[in-house]
Amino acid sequence: MRPPYLLLDIDGVLIPFPDAGGSTPAAHARHDVVPAGRNTDDPVTVWLDPAHGPMLMDVISTGLVTPVWCTSWRQNATTLIGPLLGLPPLPHVDLPRPQITTSHPNGYLWKRDHVDAWLADAPAVWIDDDFTGLDHAWAAERTAKGTATLLVQPDPRIGLQPEHLTEVTTWVSQLPAARAA
Ligand SMILES: [Mg+2]
Repeated sequence: MRPPYLLLDIDGVLIPFPDAGGSTPAAHARHDVVPAGRNTDDPVTVWLDPAHGPMLMDVISTGLVTPVWCTSWRQNATTLIGPLLGLPPLPHVDLPRPQITTSHPNGYLWKRDHVDAWLADAPAVWIDDDFTGLDHAWAAERTAKGTATLLVQPDPRIGLQPEHLTEVTTWVSQLPAARAA
């Protein structure tokens, strides 16, 4: 069996949302980045935790997952965000750009239909802060049909924590292919 995909969101996972007071976790450092197509004199400020790079590399370097960005940053995840964390160039899911005013236009995460088609029958662990109950039901149904699927959902104001990645590696190591290896 192929290694499961590790789908990685950025906003609310690697870039935490400000809390009510407008501040981000103290561990995060400020960067100004210019996404593709944006004017260089109009950068976007992002806050990143330098510890996230090594934490993610610990998982990626096991070879037990195939990491892929799954974020509205699209290719900018590969070219801008990843390098700031010391990550190698990772592929990205080429998400559509729907005209939506909520991230759950049909009661579930807007990315999901695209991801579902993109994954086909591949197992996956998906880290995103924005799943609804319908997404968790989708993952449970996929798993029940024999396609191992795990959703990991950090708190968007805190972002990715070591225990989330422990959950990933524990889950992966229990899959039949990992045990056989
Ligand atoms: Mg998000």
